[in-house]
Amino acid sequence: MNAPNTNMPPARAQVAIAGAGPAGAACAALLARAGVDVVLLDAQRFPRFKACGEFMSPQCVPLLEQLGAAQALRRAGARELRGMELFGHGRRARGRFVDIGRARAPVDYGWALRREVFDAQLVEHARRCGAQVFEGWRVCALERGADGSVKGLHLRGPGGARRSLAASWTIGADGLRSKVASELGVQREDRGLRRIALTTRYRGVDTRSLAQAHFFEGGYFALAPVDQGLVSVNLVLFEELYRSSGLERDALFESWVQRLPAVREALGAGERVDPLRGLGPLARTTTQQTFDGAALVGDACGYVDPLTGEGIFFALHGAASLAPALLDALGAGRTDRGVLAPYLRERQREIAPRARLCRWLAFALARPTPARLLLALLESRSGLADLAVSLSADYARPAELLRPSVWLRAWSGGASA
Ligand SMILES: Cc1cc2nc3c(=O)[nH]c(=O)nc-3n(C[C@H](O)[C@H](O)[C@H](O)COP(=O)(O)OP(=O)(O)OC[C@H]3O[C@@H](n4cnc5c(N)ncnc54)[C@H](O)[C@@H]3O)c2cc1C
Repeated sequence: MNAPNTNMPPARAQVAIAGAGPAGAACAALLARAGVDVVLLDAQRFPRFKACGEFMSPQCVPLLEQLGAAQALRRAGARELRGMELFGHGRRARGRFVDIGRARAPVDYGWALRREVFDAQLVEHARRCGAQVFEGWRVCALERGADGSVKGLHLRGPGGARRSLAASWTIGADGLRSKVASELGVQREDRGLRRIALTTRYRGVDTRSLAQAHFFEGGYFALAPVDQGLVSVNLVLFEELYRSSGLERDALFESWVQRLPAVREALGAGERVDPLRGLGPLARTTTQQTFDGAALVGDACGYVDPLTGEGIFFALHGAASLAPALLDALGAGRTDRGVLAPYLRERQREIAPRARLCRWLAFALARPTPARLLLALLESRSGLADLAVSLSADYARPAELLRPSVWLRAWSGGASA
């Protein structure tokens, strides 16, 4: 039975989770539902802003159904996006979410919802499932045993309150700048990922229920219509392009809007309703994700380029594979990292190949020659555009691309085999 939630985290829990974004909240919900005494902590209070394109790939929908949160998200206004339009270098292609080879699309849409709504709903869901949630509590350090194993967290809370929380398992779900990963000494800079993102929202922009990506040399714009008639707009730039411009954030954003006719046209009809927020450089990775007494999940493991909009899927999928491994560990009374091997295998199988493909695409599409070739091909062959868009939808593994029949079908207009 879980202890009542006073405003002070308890001194002990079976599992302590740092960070209540999608990775942490989903993991907490799954564990609490299975009867585990789990404490979920976040430095911020919900609803809180999170820089994001706010698009969830179609494979997030069944994961959220399994979590039991889908109905609440529908009620909260999650918008169904039926595909993606790709623009750049004078080309325009449109792809839908379709079956790829043997992989069947679970639904033919992805969801888009403001992150302050989505994340707050997931935290509430974790609470309903029985997790003890503490907002406004920041992880400052890890509690370590004499053998180096992780034994819990040191926290700082409202008004400077301090607390130590001992746990059999400590989970770092604290995002891109993970304190847990940094304390474990496994965070590295990934120079290939140095990007700056500028994020805002517009009202009065019609994208016809499609996400949009606009590519140019050194970056891209991503547009996604979310709830309440708003459109989330992200400008992502290679860091050197951002720094060399010498412009203030707003002037830089506006200059790129004006330089790209399709973006100018799309946003010209609307009105910017949120401040422009900057984030970056986005360049973290980790060398290890499981430890004696601890694990990392979601962005805490390392960042992925926002290009294909898969970070939320990686967070939810990571939680869905970590939770059963933790249940087995708790059942067996084990806290050695070896017991989390199934979680690492699942990461290797489902996340690593997608992150590699996304990285390759981001690299190619930011360079004029490959971008021109690729976009011309996608414009001329709708089946290839469907294939490209569906690959970012997370229900097909990139290995499906090794099947010649997939390419033949896509070339002749379809994508499944
Ligand atoms: C510009 C941009 C656009 C993106 N667009 C998309 C998109 O369209 N679709 C998509 O799927 N993904 C997108 N992503 C990626 C996506 O936002 C992340 O992958 C996702 O939020 C990861 O979830 P998470 O739970 O791991 O981390 P987060 O959502 O970052 O949550 C981490 C939580 O940890 C808390 N925290 C941090 N430090 C501490 C601490 N010391 N103590 C306690 N709590 C702490 C934070 O307050 C936060 O609530 C985008 C990212 C960026 C930057």
